[in-house]
Amino acid sequence: MAKTEKLSAVKGMNDILPGESERWEWLEAQVRDLMGRFAYRNVRTPIVEHTQLFVRGIGEVTDIVEKEMYSFEDKLNGERLTLRPEGTASLVRATIENNLLYDGGKRMWYIGPMFRHERPQRGRYRQFHQIGAEALGFAGPDVDAELILLAVSLWKRLGLTQWRLEINSLGQPEERKAHREALIAYLEQHTEVMDEEAKRRMYSNPLRVLDTKNPAMQEMVNAAPKLLDYLGEASLAHFDGLKAILDANGVPWTVNPRLVRGLDYYNLSVFEFVTDLLGSQGTICAGGRYDYLIEQVGGKPAPAVGWALGVERVLELVKELGTDIPAPQLDVYAIVPDAAAMPVVLRTLQQLREAGVRAQMHTAGAEGMGSMKSQFKKADASGARHALIFGGDELAQGQVTVKSLRDGEGRQQLQALAEVAQWAATLQSIA
Ligand code: ATP
Ligand code: MG
Repeated sequence: MAKTEKLSAVKGMNDILPGESERWEWLEAQVRDLMGRFAYRNVRTPIVEHTQLFVRGIGEVTDIVEKEMYSFEDKLNGERLTLRPEGTASLVRATIENNLLYDGGKRMWYIGPMFRHERPQRGRYRQFHQIGAEALGFAGPDVDAELILLAVSLWKRLGLTQWRLEINSLGQPEERKAHREALIAYLEQHTEVMDEEAKRRMYSNPLRVLDTKNPAMQEMVNAAPKLLDYLGEASLAHFDGLKAILDANGVPWTVNPRLVRGLDYYNLSVFEFVTDLLGSQGTICAGGRYDYLIEQVGGKPAPAVGWALGVERVLELVKELGTDIPAPQLDVYAIVPDAAAMPVVLRTLQQLREAGVRAQMHTAGAEGMGSMKSQFKKADASGARHALIFGGDELAQGQVTVKSLRDGEGRQQLQALAEVAQWAATLQSIA
């Protein structure tokens, strides 16, 4: 018989297994609690959307839409669909479709997998996860600052220290027009150092050229005309408003004039949290204002601002900094000398679990229950604080033996099965 081929996960898409998943749950619990404190409410949108949503919501001349989307045709009805590469477009679509802004602005957040066909490397995957916070219907800059403070609070909770906040303002479309002309004129003078991608984007999306990661172009883009020099009074006041709130909260920032989101409907505040500890994939969270996106996706014009963080990168940084994650601990391991006791074992553990105890039972292997020695070995390895030994003689008297696995001397006591729930309540004190 031919050997069956072993199947593996799709390249760039990872399993998150026990040992690692505890970190994820810990992070998610922190986020959930914090979002509640900031009064942001959770939204869950489908993972698949019409391709057109992302083409319009992210922009045709972007890395994502040009080359990173997982798109396919629905075999049943021929629709063009895409696995979501980010969360904002879906959230905006859901907001419009469900008329969520009818009675004023909304603060919302999401979490989930995103899909981009990128070259897999540290901090860059094809299925990765984002947590995003978005405030729709508010013009800022107070809400822009609130969102940044939300992220700062999260870093604090996660024990993240070595980050810096870069901010910039993209002004308004009219202001960008004047800058765009100057920028194109400048780029036309420097085509000899530009790569093919830059040349292609020079006229369609020249701002995006400033965003290049090509080292050979850094000097050229550093000297390019700065958008900040083209901003009018209102835009500058908005930017100053954001800075003043950050200052009042002791949040350090630096202006990075090259920080652009590069899309026509991004405007005013843009920001990134960056760390030097993760190599070239150092942006852990990125966001900005997108006052023109809702209209672009077909809604009534309304201002909006938000950010998205990369969960893998944030957790990598948590690891890098050596933050301790509280690991959930098993309270009880049930040792079962004879399988005949199983009905009582399961009934007892059920009572314990319903009383809040974390309990695991020994289960039969191919050779039956196994020796007491091997069962105790497993009990030790489980990390449980107590072994419950369901021996036949004790059970006949309605009792079970409780043995401490953590006091160093293995103290034992008998416990009446009828009072096991009361025992559970005292568990902390007899550790
Ligand atoms: P980059 O310049 O690194 O490609 P981006 O501008 O494409 O980032 P955003 O679309 O702003 O990234 O996404 C927000 C955050 O999501 C990023 O700052 C990063 O932390 C994370 N992220 C983006 N793409 C990936 C990926 N392929 N794998 C893991 N995390 C990612
Ligand atoms: Mg990218």
